[in-house]
Amino acid sequence: MIIDLKPLICGEKRELNIDESFDISGLTADIVSGTAQLRGKCIDRVGFVDMSLDVELDLIVSCSRCATDHKFKESYKMEYPLVTALDNEDTDEFVLLTDGKLDLLETATEFILINLPSIYLCDEDCKGVCPGCGVNLNKGECKCEGKEVDPRLAKLLDYLKK
Ligand SMILES: [Zn+2]
Ligand SMILES: [Zn+2]
Repeated sequence: MIIDLKPLICGEKRELNIDESFDISGLTADIVSGTAQLRGKCIDRVGFVDMSLDVELDLIVSCSRCATDHKFKESYKMEYPLVTALDNEDTDEFVLLTDGKLDLLETATEFILINLPSIYLCDEDCKGVCPGCGVNLNKGECKCEGKEVDPRLAKLLDYLKK
């Protein structure tokens, strides 16, 4: 997804609308399927191009505790100044254009990866899965009460009870 910004850089246009979406299924191990929608503008500010996009994620993700697939929706504001050359200043906040072109997919993917939550929960109170019997504790009772639990799992079980 390459966006040609030369018309802005050479002064032909002042603004460029962006309305793109792309599939981010499998972007991380937790993302089962879904899309990222990018909508907004690039505006010529003379010397740089101001990109301001709304990033909307509409995903099916796997719960980090019980592995149940559920919907996850989130929106972010992605704002970067785009430049055709960098001087020696702090360059982290700028996105460098190659030949006046922006690789929107790459830039947005990096942005999304930074902003995604580290865990997804089907519910804040998700009880997870019993490491002993594998029962989804949101749906059923643990069946290993009173039975021998593998000592390696017992530690994890203790931890999960906290
Ligand atoms: Zn869950
Ligand atoms: Zn159990």
